[in-house]
Amino acid sequence: MKLIFLGPPGAGKGTLAAKAVDIVGVPHISTGAIFREAIAAKSELGLKVKAIIDAGKLVDDDTTIALVKERLAQADTQKGYILDGFPRTIPQAQALAGFSVVEKVINFDIPDSGVLERLGGRRVCRKCGFNFHIVFNKPTTEGVCDHCGGEVYTRDDDRPEAVQKRLEVYRAQTAPLIDYYRQQGVLLDIDARPAVDEIVTEFKRSLGF
Ligand code: AMP
Repeated sequence: MKLIFLGPPGAGKGTLAAKAVDIVGVPHISTGAIFREAIAAKSELGLKVKAIIDAGKLVDDDTTIALVKERLAQADTQKGYILDGFPRTIPQAQALAGFSVVEKVINFDIPDSGVLERLGGRRVCRKCGFNFHIVFNKPTTEGVCDHCGGEVYTRDDDRPEAVQKRLEVYRAQTAPLIDYYRQQGVLLDIDARPAVDEIVTEFKRSLGF
């Protein structure tokens, strides 16, 4: 199954995706995670995108589209994928349509207050990318990932200045994708406010798992 997870930063896309891979049996592809890995590795891509990402802006469409096209050409995506954080602009969605046919787009519906609460407390594993929260989903040992032992840190772009920018960018550039996909008849709205287990149940119900 070919799925897109669409929604503002902090809506819980990555958290649900980590659970959904076992339900759907397809890989989770997060463009943000790919960029963060490139930054950590100080690769050419990482050096190019670091300042843009830290400021809460979007990486240019050409770079991002090329990255996803290459990733979707890999064998593990044959049965499908969960795209988390891509597309984020109409040109990205149009480009994607040229190399893959998306079956469903899950729209994570959450007010700004929910986004700010989640991003303010979000912590991420530097090694495996697992998302924690200082109130709702704490690591057992502070600063240490329960899954891989990696360091749990605050993303630079989860700092308040960058969060405001990311929300602005979401409204201006990404939210138009809701109508774009609704018109194509592939959009499924999901209430992203409840705790993750409830969202998993709703996700399974709406996709028939
Ligand atoms: P995320 O982990 O999805 O919140 O992404 C973190 C950051 O990576 C975003 O704020 C953007 O700077 C960049 N990014 C991720 N996905 C995309 C995309 N599809 N287009 C442009 N920039 C992206």
